[in-house]
Amino acid sequence: MSDKAFRLSLSFLSIFSAFVLTVGALLNIFTAINNKKHHPPIESTTQIEGAENKTNIINTSSPESFDSLLEAVTVLKNHFPDLIKIYTAGYSESGREIIMYTLGNGEKKALVTGAIHAREHITTKYLLKVTEDYCNAFYSATGYYGNYNIYNLLNEYTLYIIPCANPDGLEIILSNDSPEKNVRVSELSEYKANKNGVDLNRNFPIAWNYIDNGVTSPADYYFKGYESGSAKETQVLMNLCLENEFLFLLSVHIKGNLIFWGDTYKTDNNAIYKAFAEDICNASGFLIMEPTKKAKDYGGGFENWFRHQFNRPGVCIELSHIENIVKPCGSENYSDFNSFVNYEKSSNAIAAAMASTNK
Ligand SMILES: [Zn+2]
Repeated sequence: MSDKAFRLSLSFLSIFSAFVLTVGALLNIFTAINNKKHHPPIESTTQIEGAENKTNIINTSSPESFDSLLEAVTVLKNHFPDLIKIYTAGYSESGREIIMYTLGNGEKKALVTGAIHAREHITTKYLLKVTEDYCNAFYSATGYYGNYNIYNLLNEYTLYIIPCANPDGLEIILSNDSPEKNVRVSELSEYKANKNGVDLNRNFPIAWNYIDNGVTSPADYYFKGYESGSAKETQVLMNLCLENEFLFLLSVHIKGNLIFWGDTYKTDNNAIYKAFAEDICNASGFLIMEPTKKAKDYGGGFENWFRHQFNRPGVCIELSHIENIVKPCGSENYSDFNSFVNYEKSSNAIAAAMASTNK
């Protein structure tokens, strides 16, 4: 081998080794990123709860649009793939996906829904934030969130969470879409219905015929629909409940800082339902209500239908104190998210429902 050839092969060797080293380093980085993505931070037993592994994914300072909602749920799933799985519960009247995810790995199932009323979209954010906090608690040294052993509860339960049951309504409220032309709208910021002007929480087949609230055509709220169970979003929720044995339902709304848990349509199980609601109230500071008496108020309600269909507890949680609210739930409320939804206390509600022995 000539000198030149020797020098050439030497430099080839050094370039080749540099290449191998670089590829190796890149592979290491890729593996590290990948491991971070697929394995949630598992804290050692000596680590203090709340240390640096705790995530801060959910941005509570602005509303979630339909697009950003899927992104947020996906990021949560990527951080906690052993706890969260994403599904499509079904589709809205406009064909938007009704996003659902499961949280936990237990055999018992329960359903938690938010934003069935469009203007109450801060409940979507609440559910995402609670999900993140419970995941962090699950992987913390103690496994606790407040007084609740989340590690045990999420091994006992799988929560089915629909953060926004009315995605078309959400997009109408955020001005990315419009209701159908025949829908009567007085104040768009107060819009509760789906795209067709059906108030989904008046559309379920429970005492539906007795709803007499004076709203007889598509409107921003209170129209029960031309037939019970007519809205696609209603059907998605009904089918989901009929296909799964949910032990309880939490339907999260806004306005009141209280819980509706029973009605006078049928009262046989009201003592059981009340005890369940009391457990949630004690943990979250919500006020417990008396059973709803008028069919115009309980007729067509999701949680009312759930209770009477399955003889299991279904409650409506109204986040936020009524005095806090000028408009039902504007974008400005996100600047003060924690106090608006009384997060420190209200975030215990779902854990309390799982832990309740009165089901
Ligand atoms: Zn509502």
